[in-house]
Amino acid sequence: MKQYPFLSLKDVNAPYREEIDNAIADVLDNGWYLNGKYNREVEQQLCRLSHADFAVTCSNGLDALRLIFKALKKLGRLHNGDEVIVQANTYIASVLAISDCGLQPILVDASTSTLNIDSSLVEAAITPLTKAIMPVHLYGSACWDANIADIAQRHNLIVVEDNAQAIGASAVCNGLNGNNITGNLGHAAAFSFYPTKNVGALGDAGAITTCDKMLADTIRALANYGSDRRYHNIHKGLNCRMDELQAAVVAIKLRHLNDITSRRRDNALSYSRFINNTVIEKPYHDPGSVWHQYVIRVKHGLRDAFRDYLSNNGVATDIHYATPPHRQPCYKEFAHLSLPATEKMASQYVSLPISEVLTSDDIRHISDVINSFVPKNQKSVNKS
Ligand SMILES: *Cc1c(COP(=O)(O)O)cnc(C)c1O
Repeated sequence: MKQYPFLSLKDVNAPYREEIDNAIADVLDNGWYLNGKYNREVEQQLCRLSHADFAVTCSNGLDALRLIFKALKKLGRLHNGDEVIVQANTYIASVLAISDCGLQPILVDASTSTLNIDSSLVEAAITPLTKAIMPVHLYGSACWDANIADIAQRHNLIVVEDNAQAIGASAVCNGLNGNNITGNLGHAAAFSFYPTKNVGALGDAGAITTCDKMLADTIRALANYGSDRRYHNIHKGLNCRMDELQAAVVAIKLRHLNDITSRRRDNALSYSRFINNTVIEKPYHDPGSVWHQYVIRVKHGLRDAFRDYLSNNGVATDIHYATPPHRQPCYKEFAHLSLPATEKMASQYVSLPISEVLTSDDIRHISDVINSFVPKNQKSVNKS
């Protein structure tokens, strides 16, 4: 029986082996390990990709978000205790960045049709303390829409995108800078190159994009001990840099981003065509999505049986995310919140393998396995 791991990083990186080997040799030969030409290339590629004016590479996606908020505070645009709206169904790092910077996360529930923030709930979450909103483009699909654009403008909110999962995605309407590409919809955006992301390093790496020079300069200084030039420290800063080895890998994979994205889109389209089991609800097909995950709903109470069945048939699955941030022990202050869509996603949704190394035959095979799933005590739920 053919085995399908949820994600094989070894296979994902295999096509770039020769390019990566050469780049690592190049770094060794140069003897230049930080803040060198590969970091500059990543920044240039991110500007080109997102149409942002400035990009700053950094240590990881969480640090990218933290640097943005820290810089906004340094510039006096955010203050301790200010409220930041964020969707409740996100990876916890989005929320950690807000609370770590002394800001107050305001969790807004998801929509089970987009699996992103329910933009119709945002207005009601605004208070006089609300100063920013963090759109998280979950699973590769931009959550930015006309509603969020309108609220951000009317309430003069600072928009900080969490673009960790959606590099290269596009939204259904333009952002504040006149185009619809994630990473340039608001005032600043964070990217992650964690190994499992669509563009993954061989370790941790991240970046920030913005069209605001003052913000970019402040972030760059903060990430480098707070120095604007050598041995001259204008801020009490941090060390949040990306090293040249990781930058070399990220630069190489960014050169192949169009191919990575189109393969993932093909795979998502194939799943959406092939899966026809009535206990499964397929995701809304967003044409601008870069399909970081392909997430399906399994009818109430059947998820564990479904996952066991797939696993017994060689198909590994995952859950993003089984415990939402407001149910984590570190956020006891949010434990009382009722966020029904987020909780439903945590208990009924499953992520299928979607990486670009899977072929359409693989997707056909996995879909056939899914379509043959018959829950116990039910004769047949298979339409075909
Ligand atoms: C991965 C991720 C992050 C954090 O990125 P790291 O590079 O792992 O620190 C933040 N937000 C979201 C939505 C993510 O998926």
